Amino acid sequence: MAILKVARLGHPVLRTVAAPVPPAEFRAAETQRLIDDMIETMREYSGAGLAATQVHTLKQIAVIEVVANPRYPEAPEIPLTVLINPTVSPLTEAMEEGWEGCLSIPDMRGMVPRYTAVRLQAYDRHGEPMDLVAKDFFARVIQHEADHLNGIVYVDRMKNLATLTHLTEWSKYWLGVEEPAD
Ligand code: ZN
Repeated sequence: MAILKVARLGHPVLRTVAAPVPPAEFRAAETQRLIDDMIETMREYSGAGLAATQVHTLKQIAVIEVVANPRYPEAPEIPLTVLINPTVSPLTEAMEEGWEGCLSIPDMRGMVPRYTAVRLQAYDRHGEPMDLVAKDFFARVIQHEADHLNGIVYVDRMKNLATLTHLTEWSKYWLGVEEPAD
């Protein structure tokens, strides 16, 4: 396993749409190694998720996991989830604002509106189809990672950049604030 280099905002790879993984490659050693390395990288940097585009690989693969994450002290835990070729459809019209960060935009937080419930269809790392309904924080992380695979980052989704905040100021002025100030 290896810790991969994470592209930061401004790198064109973050603005590129990833290609679907052909089913014949789901279980290939190269795909499995990439998934293992993405999991290790996500854990090393305490991310809630990581998309392949962030590690310079234009494949529709993302990993998600939240285990008592110091970057999201309030967040509920999410078991390790590997998504290949995810499709995300909103199940509500309602959107809720919530804080997000991103390993590609280090030390920043911003308030981002997301659908509160989504249907996720994808394949797991064994090539088994998955079809589930995700809500709240899990739904938020899924939307964040699926966006990465389409060249979108969370700042694109912000309604008001006034909440875009460096982590040191966030801890001082915004920690615990649930509503944007707009
Ligand atoms: Zn991100």
